[in-house]
Amino acid sequence: MKELDIIQLFKNIHTDRDMEIGIGDDCAVLKGSKPDYDLLVTTDMLIEGTHFLRNQISASELANKALAVNLSDIAAMGGNPTYVFLSCGFPKDLSDQWITEFALEFKKKCEDYNVKLVGGDTNLSLNGIVVNITVQGEVKKENLKLRSTAKPSNLICVTGFVGDSKAGLQCLQNNLKIDSSLQKALIEKHFVVHPQIKPGQLLGQQSSVTAMMDVSDGLFSDVLKLVTASNVSAKIQVEQLPISEELDQFCKQTNRDPMQMAVLGGEDYVLLCCIQKDYFLQMQKLFRDELKTELFCIGEIIKKETVESEVSFLKNGEKFEFTESQFEHF
Ligand code: ADP
Ligand code: MG
Repeated sequence: MKELDIIQLFKNIHTDRDMEIGIGDDCAVLKGSKPDYDLLVTTDMLIEGTHFLRNQISASELANKALAVNLSDIAAMGGNPTYVFLSCGFPKDLSDQWITEFALEFKKKCEDYNVKLVGGDTNLSLNGIVVNITVQGEVKKENLKLRSTAKPSNLICVTGFVGDSKAGLQCLQNNLKIDSSLQKALIEKHFVVHPQIKPGQLLGQQSSVTAMMDVSDGLFSDVLKLVTASNVSAKIQVEQLPISEELDQFCKQTNRDPMQMAVLGGEDYVLLCCIQKDYFLQMQKLFRDELKTELFCIGEIIKKETVESEVSFLKNGEKFEFTESQFEHF
């Protein structure tokens, strides 16, 4: 069974009055304690062997990544993270030094992101390290952004480079003949996630932003999730995808296609958002002025013309052909 089919099995089991939005978005959106705020809750798990190898990632990198991927989901709703719960499964052979480094880095990152660690669970794991984190956050009701509210003719944008993390993973998995400094830079991009909390909040404050999510599984599958939730389709212009200098170099040295890497890559943790067309330039300027970063337009939402929502990828107006298939967890 595929991941989406499994999640589907769990859907619609609650009819709780307090549940505003449950399964299906980056966070659950629940009633907040203040009348004009919603409560956001998200949880994500990292498992040794599935998401990382112990001999490749350091304890502090894992601590940072486990927290950051959860904060990214809060950012994706336009929210502000507040509280964290940390549950760990640690194998017997894990050294005290590893656990101490993990804990110290985790606490430091909580301070950096101004979130409070308020609980969790610690257990012995018979099969590798497991880290599960739950983050709570809040968002002013009027700033909440969902995946399900994109409209035809909205522009589709991303807040940063895509594909770097996949290139870093390929450096870890294969013995590639590329510059060692380039390799190091890309591996760092794979391990060090920067949750886009400020861009998320800025986008959340704009009524011209109609929908938002974070890019965790890769543009291909995440744009499809967004258009499916919004009951629309999308056209992506691959030549407009933001490609970093490092990814460009990596692709030149390994004879890969950067656009394909950018579309099929995962774990980019940038934000994907839809903006009313007439407001895009204004938003781009706001990004430059307030955040000193770029907002990249990569395509357009279109009306759905088939039963299922579709994402078409074009390169200079022609259909873009993929030579590689998409990564699936199951
Ligand atoms: P994200 O990548 O943003 O973390 P996912 O694609 O992992 O989101 O999950 C999609 C939605 O399905 C989320 O709302 C998540 O909370 C929900 N979900 C995933 N697994 C389960 C599960 N086992 N039971 C209930 N809900 C789940
Ligand atoms: Mg997400």
